[in-house]
Amino acid sequence: MPTASQVLVLNCGSSSLKFAVIDPKSGVEALTGIGDGLGQSEPVMSWQVQGDKHTVSLPDKASHTTVIQFLVDEILHPRPQLLHCLVAVGHRVVHGGEKFSRSVLIDGEVTDAIRDCATLAPLHNPPALLGIEAARKAFPALAQVAVFDTAFHQSMPRHAFIYALPYNLYRDHGIRRYGMHGTSHRYVTERTAELLNLPVDGVNVISAHLGNGASITAIHNGRSVDTSMGLTPLEGLVMGTRSGDVDPGILMHLGCRFDYSLKEVNDLLNRKSGLLGISELSNDCRALEKAAGDGHQGAWLALDIFSYRLAKYIAAYHAPLKQVDALVFTGGIGENSSLIRGKVLDHLEGLGFQVDPERNLQMRSGAEGTITRADSALALVIPTNEEWVIARDAANLVPGDHQNHNGGNRE
Ligand code: AMP
Repeated sequence: MPTASQVLVLNCGSSSLKFAVIDPKSGVEALTGIGDGLGQSEPVMSWQVQGDKHTVSLPDKASHTTVIQFLVDEILHPRPQLLHCLVAVGHRVVHGGEKFSRSVLIDGEVTDAIRDCATLAPLHNPPALLGIEAARKAFPALAQVAVFDTAFHQSMPRHAFIYALPYNLYRDHGIRRYGMHGTSHRYVTERTAELLNLPVDGVNVISAHLGNGASITAIHNGRSVDTSMGLTPLEGLVMGTRSGDVDPGILMHLGCRFDYSLKEVNDLLNRKSGLLGISELSNDCRALEKAAGDGHQGAWLALDIFSYRLAKYIAAYHAPLKQVDALVFTGGIGENSSLIRGKVLDHLEGLGFQVDPERNLQMRSGAEGTITRADSALALVIPTNEEWVIARDAANLVPGDHQNHNGGNRE
């Protein structure tokens, strides 16, 4: 059991709540778990502590509050050493709009602002507010800190975040590019600086976060200057079930010629497109690689399009950076798929990337390192760790002497 200061990290999704108790200095996790299927029938809660795995069923329609109550009463209270080491609760909040360019201690004004931003992230900000409310009740003495996915991208210049639409849509309604996965891109940036022995404010990175959701960010001198997700997480790269960029004219065409409703278009772009839509088989990269190996043409096409579109973004992001210290792959696909990484780097030979096939094959299951040859532009694999960033930011914002100085919470 830990003796140093620990942070409880809460990540509330629309029907899930992930939690972890993390040492902000080392990143070691003393407890990890998830409540899943919340608000639905047969929700379950599973967690791992000291190598032991546990799973229990929760009552039907159990909420985020039920999970936090269970966490306090049944997991933390029986382990006082863990409970009494907690110095803060760090909350992942998806959307901070233009109000938050860094993590903040939560007070009434902050919760009001998160509520205001809920129009921009209707599936994500409301459950985060539920988590905050429940955690404040359960841990009234602990600092509560909000860490925003959008905060890292607030450094983007106007020419990168304003759409070529009538300007009043931005001025009056906040319609602009906000970007997502900021906590992951920030972790990757800080880790790259560490690995290359550069100051964070002197490193230029192209960070490709490739999971079920995928986004890519250009980082100049440690700050996000462009990113592929937009007002919503639909824009940009090909994803598991999301289309990423398409000609907006297609939406009108579907409506006018084929009578698609807005709801149907939304469903098509968010849930039926991407790897799943192209392959007509699966949204899961690993399953597609296996099928492609067995000769499935749709699977090959999906992997080809995914890789080509990603390579095009990487090439484009050389423009704002001029000089790139490293291209970094992260997320489930970025960390594990040597096939995708190899295909992407093959497209980028013109920019000086030469894959090292052996190193590329070795990078999976949490491995970190270089996948390019010595004479090549540098590409790395860095397993992301958003929870650790949240824990560091939360610890850094605790008043008193619990602060750690391991990066985190920069303006
Ligand atoms: P994430 O959303 O970050 O958990 O990433 C999920 C994606 O990573 C899914 O498409 C998985 O198929 C993919 N993935 C995980 N492990 C592998 C692997 N060994 N090879 C290829 N893709 C993988």
